Amino acid sequence: MNNSVSVTFLGGLGDIGRNCAAIESQDQILILDCGQLFPDEMMPGAHSVLPDFSYLNTRAEKIVGCIATHAHEDHIGALTYALQIANFPIYGSPFTLGMIRHRLNEANLMGKTELIPIEDGDIVNIGDFQCEFLPVTHSIPRGLISAIHTPQGMILHSSDFKLDLNPIDGRHTDLERIIELSKDPGVRLLLCDSTNAEIPGSSISESTVGRELKKVFEDNKDKRVITACFSSHIHRVQQIADIAVNQGRKIATLGFSMRRNVGLARELGILSLSESNLIDISEVGTYPPDEICIVSTGSQAEPRSSLSLAAKGDGRWLEIGSNDVVILSSRSIPGNEKRIGKMINSLGRRGAVVISADFQDIHTSGHGQQDELTALHDAVNPEWLVPVHGEYRHLTAHKDLAIRNGMPPNRVLVAVDGDQVTLDDKGLVLREKVCEGAYIFSQGSITERSHNIFSERLILGEEGCVIASITVDLQNREILETPTVVSKGWLNAETARGFEEEIEELLIQEIEHLLDREKKISKDLVMQRVRRSTGGFVNEQTKRRPMIIPIVTLA
Ligand SMILES: [Zn+2]
Ligand SMILES: [Zn+2]
Repeated sequence: MNNSVSVTFLGGLGDIGRNCAAIESQDQILILDCGQLFPDEMMPGAHSVLPDFSYLNTRAEKIVGCIATHAHEDHIGALTYALQIANFPIYGSPFTLGMIRHRLNEANLMGKTELIPIEDGDIVNIGDFQCEFLPVTHSIPRGLISAIHTPQGMILHSSDFKLDLNPIDGRHTDLERIIELSKDPGVRLLLCDSTNAEIPGSSISESTVGRELKKVFEDNKDKRVITACFSSHIHRVQQIADIAVNQGRKIATLGFSMRRNVGLARELGILSLSESNLIDISEVGTYPPDEICIVSTGSQAEPRSSLSLAAKGDGRWLEIGSNDVVILSSRSIPGNEKRIGKMINSLGRRGAVVISADFQDIHTSGHGQQDELTALHDAVNPEWLVPVHGEYRHLTAHKDLAIRNGMPPNRVLVAVDGDQVTLDDKGLVLREKVCEGAYIFSQGSITERSHNIFSERLILGEEGCVIASITVDLQNREILETPTVVSKGWLNAETARGFEEEIEELLIQEIEHLLDREKKISKDLVMQRVRRSTGGFVNEQTKRRPMIIPIVTLA
């Protein structure tokens, strides 16, 4: 009997984002996380990028459930799409499930799943997989390490993790239980977070960030404090709130997700902030500046965020001025730096003091660095290691680190999206490209494979387009309607009109010539000539390369 177990990586290995893996026995699949990737500037217009679900599509009846390790978008952001393939229960901590419930309600998908809450230390059977869940420290509350018993022994998934020795909620990564598991039954395969595998040492503790934040508050006692951080980073919010309340300030949340997440965390007892210290953002103006602390989203200068709008003087709730200090307590996500820089400049021009994490330890990563990875490897002592959660450079850095620490090189396999590893009695084997691992992007109500749509959009965005249309009668070999040429985004309208008329003239000559001379005439041939003549003219006259769109109508 074949009792092998495979792990197919549908996303998250090669990018930081769209984490999703299928752990599969003979007749069951357990999905491990189901996240989205935020599109970069090479994917203009895309709303989100999803894991390649084609692998699950053809095996939907095998799915027994999904573990949501924590509530970050790169782990739960694609659940609404996966639930369109199959109905399955979702397992996670109450906080994680609270965040999921909200989006499933919005998408009207609650009927397709059951949300099953997990507490630290719980052991739960999901199909035939017996899973034990352990606490882990990260930049969002209540993340879970999963120890999954399979017919081929234990697979341990680190989740996004750091070893914070002074976590805000006192909830430590449970290394002790991991060490017990490593002795009995032993861990056959470790899937481990690679995000910070290139960085030596250890990440700083979240509580150190609190001390730094306190200094900033003390230096600005007479000002109104506006802080921006990720709305899911409840421990950061807790620290900000504690410092502010200590200084006699009231807290107001700004931004929809901040308000929602603070509400959820208070409801679950994860955030301790009394009603009496919380005011509505609309009441802020009735207090003197030194009695207010605003906890806001918008740390990435998202264009529609309240903070960005306030920086431009368009804020509904806030007018920024010289009484304000704005603390950006987060890192800049790569690609957002320019936008954030602009927002800092705008805030400064309005008189605010801006303090960013570039120069002060007012932010720390939620991902462990090399010393923390080493400590986890030592605790788990796995037979095999597959680095997960990272760009390719992070995965290979993680492999190198493990080998430096004594792991045999052939026991560390670097897989990427679309690859599958199979565990059997003999060991672990990597099979490349079991599925395409393609980028599936969603925009509006449609999801599709990227193909060449983004290169088309990039040309349209940078060069515009020229549309040349003509109606011909192939039988009688004549042009029936004079060509029309219009353009968008190629040249300014006035300059363009002159060139467009010249192209219309040119097309009459060229196509008449073609209809006269060519023995075997076809629509394709006319189209090709319209494209070539238009493109040649455009390039010669303007040295620009807009997209040329020929339209040939047959009479
Ligand atoms: Zn993550
Ligand atoms: Zn995370």
